[in-house]
Parts: sequence; structure tokens; C-alpha cells
Amino acid sequence: MSAYRSPFRPEIDALEGYTPGEQPKLPHLIKLNTNENPYPPSPRVAAALAEFPVQQLRRYPDPLATELRSAIAELHGVIPEQVIAGNGSDDILTMVTRAFTDPWHAIVTPDPTYSLYPVLARMQCAPVRRIPLTPETFELPPDLESFLEGANLLILARPNAPTGNAFPLEQIERICRNFPGVVLIDEAYADFADDNALELARSRNNVLVSRTFSKSYALAGLRLGYAVGDARLIEGLFKLKDSYNLDALTQALGLAAFRDREYLASTVARVRATREQLAAAYRELGFQVVPSQTNFLFVRPPDRDGRGYFQRLREQAVIVRYFPAAPTRDYVRVTIGTPEETERLLELTRGMYQ
Ligand SMILES: *Cc1c(COP(=O)(O)O)cnc(C)c1O
Repeated sequence: MSAYRSPFRPEIDALEGYTPGEQPKLPHLIKLNTNENPYPPSPRVAAALAEFPVQQLRRYPDPLATELRSAIAELHGVIPEQVIAGNGSDDILTMVTRAFTDPWHAIVTPDPTYSLYPVLARMQCAPVRRIPLTPETFELPPDLESFLEGANLLILARPNAPTGNAFPLEQIERICRNFPGVVLIDEAYADFADDNALELARSRNNVLVSRTFSKSYALAGLRLGYAVGDARLIEGLFKLKDSYNLDALTQALGLAAFRDREYLASTVARVRATREQLAAAYRELGFQVVPSQTNFLFVRPPDRDGRGYFQRLREQAVIVRYFPAAPTRDYVRVTIGTPEETERLLELTRGMYQ
């Protein structure tokens, strides 16, 4: 028998692939590891699902997601030609890396940040340049511009994941002004934050802002995200999206959720309130807590043993996220759950550190 010779492109064989957070199916588990919303989606989603004309599934969906994009455009004060929707914001990220990177044009992104960005870049054979964030505060370094030389795409998550902080808006604005390439600002958590960068997407022709329905709308299972930006950027992205990247059900249910602004505001307010209570309780126990603008906290236990804290919680059926790489290994990331889940988490944590 001859030796197996992989038919894959060498870059694909070399690729680690993205590791999603685990989705264990144990009963009684408190799942605080993938930043899902602890509250259900808007009741209007259930109503839209019940009313959905199933016979419509015989037909292909609207490839332009016209109604959904119009609603999004109206809320953000742009025209529909400035909005593209995707099968989760991961789909948007895939389009953007395909569009703006190649082996000769690097992608620049902080370290630590959302670990999918470098994976997508490597699929494009694009070099990845990492901007090391400052230790403990996880801010962008002052000499940031030196990392941008010759690059064509900068991806910044704001608020950042897994750290939870939001880089100062003025700093982001200055970068967008000076960088000749495209800046994608991933605003997966913006609904939980005090401000956002949408004005940059409206006013600058090199800025895209992406959003997702997975976190604040509690629709991670539906797969819906979108990007807002200059009409020429959006038009280009339309050329390389999958023809029917949004199924009919997602378009209908997503629209129902999007229109329920009141429900969104009320669940976001609850998550933010719990976040501040949990942050205060962690600080009291001697944890370092990165100021969070998201629906999670990035915390360092007093003994700096992130892995140990993660494992001991796991033994008690509370799952949080641990990132073993150097800049994050002293920390764990904890999704904001319901007040009851948070109480249980604190009870266990006090037992370990008090
Ligand atoms: C969760 C998350 C996403 C992914 O969103 P989907 O719409 O579920 O694909 C994108 N970016 C960041 C930073 C995230 O945390």
C-alpha cells in the first residue's frame, strides 16, 4: 500500500482550525462559556415562527434579504446599499478576509482577540501580524501604527473578546483616518456597551462595522449577523457572498427580533446590571476584573491560577472558558448568566477564595 498523500492545500493541512467553546449536554449544567444570552429571544420570534408559511420553503429565499437589510439600515441611519447580512457574523468575517487579504497583504489584529480572525487569514494564505495588547489592561499599544505598514486589513473587536474592554473611540478614529486599508470593527458585543463605532462606518469609506444576533438578541442558534459600511465596500462583498447565505426562516425570525427594540433594551439592561454586581463581588474576593462593556467578565483569580479556577468550577458543573495561551492563561472568561446562575457561581467562588 502506498503512503497516504494529502490532497489538501499545504496551508489547510497546516491549519489548526478554530476551536469553538464546548457545548456539553449535561443536565443541571451552568453554562457560562460561550457568551450566549441567559434570557430567551423576544416573544415575537416565537410568534413569527408559529405564523411562518411553511409552503414558502419550496422557494429560494430572497438573496438580498431586502426587508431585513432595510430595517437594519433605517435603524442605523444608512441606506440599504450600506448593509450586508450573513449567516452569523462569522460569515461576514469570512467574506471580509476573502475580499481584502492574500499572500502579499497581511491582516493585522490584536493579541489576544477573537481567535477566528487568524484562522480565516491562514485559509487565505495571508500573513497575520499581531498587535500585543498591554498586560493587565489589554489596551492597544501607543506605537500601534508601526504594525500597520503594508497591511490591507485591520480587524478590531470593540468591545474586545475575550478581554471585554472597549478601546477608546478617539484612538479607533485616528487609526481609521491614518490607515489606508480597510478596518473591520467587530461589534458583536456593542449592544452591551456604552458607545459604538457606527458613526465611523457611516462617515468613512474604509470602515466596516459588524454586528451579530447571537449575543444581545439571544439567537446564536439562528445564525445571523450583518455589516454596515460604505456602499462600495458592501457592493464588493455582495460579489463574494454565498448566493443564498440567509435562509427564509432566518430572515423572517431575525426581522421579528430586530424590530422588538424594547425587549432588546430590557434584556440588555438586566445583563448589564448582573455584570456590575458580579464584577464588584469578584473584586471583593481579590480578583482582577477587566472593566467590561460586554456580556462577560475577564477575571484573574488572586492566586493567578486561571486553569485551576476553571477546573474547580467545572467539577461543580459550572462551565466557563479558559484560554491557555500566554497573554490570557492567568484569567478565565465568565459569561453573564441569570442572577440565580451568578449566585451559584459566587457561592462556589467564595468557597475557593474566601
Ligand atoms: C460571538 C462572536 C462573533 C460570532 O458571532 P456569530 O454571529 O455567532 O458568528 C463574532 N465576533 C466576536 C468577537 C464574537 O465574540
